[in-house]
Amino acid sequence: MTILRLALPTPLRRLFDYLPPQQIDPAALLPGIRVQVPFQRRTLIGVLVSVEKSSSLPYEKLKRADLIIDDVPILTSEIDKLCLWASDYYHCSLGEVYASAMPTQLRKGILPPEPVVEKAGDGETAALSLNSHQQLAVEAICAAHGHFQAFLLEGVTGSGKTEVYLRAIDDMLSRGKQALVLVPEISLTPQTIARFKRRFSVQVVALHSGLSEKQRLQGWVDAKSGTAKIVIGTRSAIFTSMPQLGLIIVDEEHDQSFKQQDRFRYHARDLAIMRASMNQMPVVLGSATPSLESLLNVERQRYTYLDLPERAGGASMPAYEMIDLKSSPVTDGLSDKMIAMMRSHLAQGNQVMLFINRRGFAPVLYCTQCAWTSECKRCDARMVYHNKPPRLHCHHCDARKAVPVRCEQCQQASLEPIGIGTQRLEENLTTLFPEIPIIRVDRDSTRRKGSMQKLLDQVHEQKPAILLGTQMLAKGHHFPQVTLVGIIDIDGGLFSADFRAAEQMGQLLMQVSGRAGREEKAGTVMLQTHHPDHPLLQTLIQHGYQAFARQLLVERHQAMLPPYSHFAIFRAEAHAEKKAVDFLAMIKEWCDKQDDTISALGPVPALMQKRKGMHCQHLLLRADRRGNLQQLIKNILDKLEASTASQPVKWVLDVDPVEV
Ligand SMILES: [Zn+2]
Ligand SMILES: [Zn+2]
Repeated sequence: MTILRLALPTPLRRLFDYLPPQQIDPAALLPGIRVQVPFQRRTLIGVLVSVEKSSSLPYEKLKRADLIIDDVPILTSEIDKLCLWASDYYHCSLGEVYASAMPTQLRKGILPPEPVVEKAGDGETAALSLNSHQQLAVEAICAAHGHFQAFLLEGVTGSGKTEVYLRAIDDMLSRGKQALVLVPEISLTPQTIARFKRRFSVQVVALHSGLSEKQRLQGWVDAKSGTAKIVIGTRSAIFTSMPQLGLIIVDEEHDQSFKQQDRFRYHARDLAIMRASMNQMPVVLGSATPSLESLLNVERQRYTYLDLPERAGGASMPAYEMIDLKSSPVTDGLSDKMIAMMRSHLAQGNQVMLFINRRGFAPVLYCTQCAWTSECKRCDARMVYHNKPPRLHCHHCDARKAVPVRCEQCQQASLEPIGIGTQRLEENLTTLFPEIPIIRVDRDSTRRKGSMQKLLDQVHEQKPAILLGTQMLAKGHHFPQVTLVGIIDIDGGLFSADFRAAEQMGQLLMQVSGRAGREEKAGTVMLQTHHPDHPLLQTLIQHGYQAFARQLLVERHQAMLPPYSHFAIFRAEAHAEKKAVDFLAMIKEWCDKQDDTISALGPVPALMQKRKGMHCQHLLLRADRRGNLQQLIKNILDKLEASTASQPVKWVLDVDPVEV
C-alpha cells in the first residue's frame, strides 16, 4: 500500500494520510511536491511530507488525492528545514507554515512560471565614501562570509546604515552570492527599491503586499532560480528560496511589523537569525533604536556590536524642548509655545512636522447633556469620529455608521467631538496658518495606491509646509527641509498596561526626532507632555536612546520580564465570558500541576475585553528557561488535541508575543 502523508493548511497540528491518485508512478511522489486533496467539503493544496506503507486509519476511511501538482519539490530543502523549525517553535501546524512560506498563487495550486532575466540596472551610482565607523562595520561583516555571525548595527537616522548594507551586499555579489534584505512594510518605498536597482548591475526583486499575485510569484521564482541576486522584502520574504544566499539584513530590526499577528505568529527577525545560523552566513540587524532583545544579546556576546555614532555628512543632532501641558495654555491640541515656534520656523522658509498617533477627527463623540459616548456595540472601544467623509468608525472591528445628529440616549442636539485626531488637527492648522500648505499623512489619506507618493512629492516641492501625521510619517522617509518636529502627546507610552509601551515610545520618539534637521539645518524637537519630569523621558532626551534602553533593561531584569524571561500567551474568545475564563483556568491548572518553574498568570481580560462581539481573555505563561516553556506548551497542546470534545471557545497560542 502507498500512503501519502501530507501537511495541509489547517490549524490542526497533525499530518493527514491520503491514497495517491489512480495510476500514478510511485517515482513521481517526491517529498515537497504539492498535492490537491478533498478535505471535509473543500479542496485543499497540501505538501507531501513522506510516502508511507501503512496508515493508522483503516483503508476504507482513506480518501484519494485528486491531483499531483508538481514534478519537483516546490520548497528548497533549506526553506523546508526553516519551516519545520518554525512549526515546532511556534506550535503552528506545518501545513499553515508551508502555506505562509509560499506566494499566494502557489497556495492556489498554480504552476510556477519560468524565471525571467530582467534587465538589470547598470550599476551607475558610485558608492559614497565611508567614514571610519562605516569602514569598520563593512570590514567586520565581510569578514564573516561563509559562517554564522549575528551583528547588531546601531546607527542614528542619517548615520549611513544603508551604505554599510550596500557595501556588504556588493562584497557578497562579488563572491557569487545572493543577499536578502528585510524591511518593515511601511519603509519599502519605491525610493528604497530604486536605490538598490541603481546601485547594482544585477537583478533586484522586491517582494511586498503592493504587488499583484502574479508579480510576487515571478519574483519568488527569479530568486529561487538564482537569476535575481538581491531580494528586498517585508516579513514573509524570509521564506524566499535563495540557493546562493550569503547574507541576510534586517533593517529597522526593532519594528513590530516583523511579527505576524495572526495564524502563524512568527517573528521574521528571529527567523532571520535562525536561517543564518542553519546555513552558516552573517546576518545584520540594523536600527537607530535597537530592541531590548537585541541589546541583551550583545551584552551576552551572542551578537557582535557595530556602532555608527555620527550622522554622515556631519549633520548635527536635534535639540529637545519640553512643553509642560500643566502650565501652558492649549488651543485645539497645540500649546501657545508650539504655535509660536512653528511660526518662527515657517517664517525662515523651513518645514514643520507634527506627530499625533491618532487618526480621524476626534476619538469620541460626546453628549454634553447626558454624557453619552459613541461606543462600539461589538467592542470595548469608542467609535472614532471622522469628518471626511463623515462617519463613526470603530478602528478595531471596522464597524461604520452615520454620524447621529441627535444624541442616541437623550435625543438632544448636544453632540460634540472630544479630543483630537489628525483630521481635526489639520482643520485647526488650516485656520491658524491659512497661507501654508498642510499635508496630512495617515492611513486614511494614503489608502489609495500611489497616494503616499503624491503626498511625499508635494512635501519635496513645497516649502514652507506643515506635515502632520501618525507614525507612518516617522518611518523611513527623508524630509530635508523639516527643522521643527512637534509631538502633540507623548504621554500614552509612559503609562500603559503593556510593558513594551515605554520601549516603543522611546523608539518612536527617536525616529520622529530623526526627521528633524538633516543635511545642513539643525533641528528642534518639541514635546508636549503632562509629565516633563518623568525619569524615562528625561534619560531619553538628555542621554539618548542607549542610556534609556539600559535603564529599561534594568527595570525588565528586576521584574523578570522579557528579554530576561520568556512569554507565551493563550488567548481565548467566546460569546460568553465564562466559557473563555473556564477554558483558560483549565489550562492554568494543567500548568500548575506540571512545572513549577513556569508561572501561569491569569486568566485576565484582554486590554480590550470585548472585540467584534467576542469576550477575550488571556493566560500568560512566563518561564526563565525557553526549553521548559516549549515542553510545557507541547504537553498542553497534546492534551487539548487529544480531547475529542470540540472546544466551546476559539483559542490561539502566541509564542514570544509583542503585545501583552
Ligand atoms: Zn445625550
Ligand atoms: Zn468595534
